[in-house]
Amino acid sequence: MVQLWETLLNLIFPPRQQCPLCHNPSENDLICTQCSQWLATKQKERYCYRCGRPVNNVALCSQCMQQEWPFTLARAVAPYSGPLKKAIQRFKYHQKQKLAVPLGRLMVQRVINEPLYRQADLIVPVPLADAKLRRRGFNQATLLARQVSVGLNIPLNEVLRRTADTSPQVNLNRQQRMQNLQQAFTLKNNINLSGKTALLIDDVITTGGTVSAATEVLLKQGGVKQVLVLTLAATAKST
Ligand SMILES: [Zn+2]
Ligand SMILES: [Zn+2]
Repeated sequence: MVQLWETLLNLIFPPRQQCPLCHNPSENDLICTQCSQWLATKQKERYCYRCGRPVNNVALCSQCMQQEWPFTLARAVAPYSGPLKKAIQRFKYHQKQKLAVPLGRLMVQRVINEPLYRQADLIVPVPLADAKLRRRGFNQATLLARQVSVGLNIPLNEVLRRTADTSPQVNLNRQQRMQNLQQAFTLKNNINLSGKTALLIDDVITTGGTVSAATEVLLKQGGVKQVLVLTLAATAKST
């Protein structure tokens, strides 16, 4: 019934075709020339081999030179800026769930030629805490993970649960933040994932704390062999 109503509405008021990133008119809802060029330029820039963040002419960023991450590799489609940042904000805060399709496709394209990513056994979205999920109505990471699952032909398995909402952490130091985060995730039903490679999906990697905490749970409670991370965007600096 809802679908029929939508079809009728679309006939009377044809939806404007827009670029999923900048929102400007674009034929067939494809990414427009300008945004394609922006993406191509960003993707040609160097990124840290380990954490996937933008770097200047070095193989590893300063943070990866100093510390170990629990995950094996992290990759992002592009830096959290320009039209990609705007699209992520519309996707998350303005109920534009349909954007998961083109955005998820960009994530697939980012890793489709990376053998390690192609060999992942399961795709795991970073979960939201229940209260936040109720407020927003959807988990952006799950919607993206579904697209990545289809695109890479790797099963989706929502094995993580988030018991606490840890987003406002500004008054905590790095160690306290990490501690908080690690207690925020748990594995559903103590599922055994021994020997498997998990591909963890989130929208943006910022401090790396969230994906690290989720990775620790997959490694320690789930027994996975390794965790790879894939996000839509990465902030330039981790702090
Ligand atoms: Zn555009
Ligand atoms: Zn790095």
